[in-house]
Amino acid sequence: MIDKNIKEANKRKMDYIIKNLEKRGMEGTYCETAEEASKVILSMVGETDVVSWGGSATLDQIGIKGQLSNVIDATKAPPEKAYEERCKTLTADVYLTSTNAITMEGELVNIDGTGNRVSAMCFGPKKVIIVAGANKITADEASALARIKTEACPSNCIRLGKTTPCAVTGKCGNCLTQGQTICAYTVTTRFSSIPGRIQVILVNENLGF
Ligand code: SF4
Repeated sequence: MIDKNIKEANKRKMDYIIKNLEKRGMEGTYCETAEEASKVILSMVGETDVVSWGGSATLDQIGIKGQLSNVIDATKAPPEKAYEERCKTLTADVYLTSTNAITMEGELVNIDGTGNRVSAMCFGPKKVIIVAGANKITADEASALARIKTEACPSNCIRLGKTTPCAVTGKCGNCLTQGQTICAYTVTTRFSSIPGRIQVILVNENLGF
């Protein structure tokens, strides 16, 4: 349970971010709870839309995946099919993901180990729906990157069973190990060249890492 004053501060931050997203060709929606966020996502998905997603603790936490039927789930593909299935996600109608960080100015900052998630965010799926809890908000791009290395990566590496320095010690060691590092690509989305393609749902709860 988040303190009510922190909740109010989060709401004001999210209102500010939503205004900044508009300047960047993206649209933002405020949700008080994860349950409300799930309803908003379902309202954005058309009946015939094929939906896909990247690995995301936030999406697991809000339980949206089980509420969708017409899906491509590359996260469940066996290793020999992973490349093919990840390619298919790029042609989905809707792509769901979280963001590793979102700045007060409305920039989305993400790292990726294989690049399929950040690729889909940049190009491919007709609509990208990004769910971000209050814990993902940072002041600027530099603090977003710091958040990713100190908060997101250690937890994500542990979730994925990696043996990266951040998973073992909690501290980034700038690893360069094939098949281990989840920091192959760092992408900042500062603008959407297709207006409204990227929908950001800001949830006033702490979600994911
Ligand atoms: S570079 Fe390696 S050690 Fe550093 S945060 Fe990324 S995965 Fe962890």
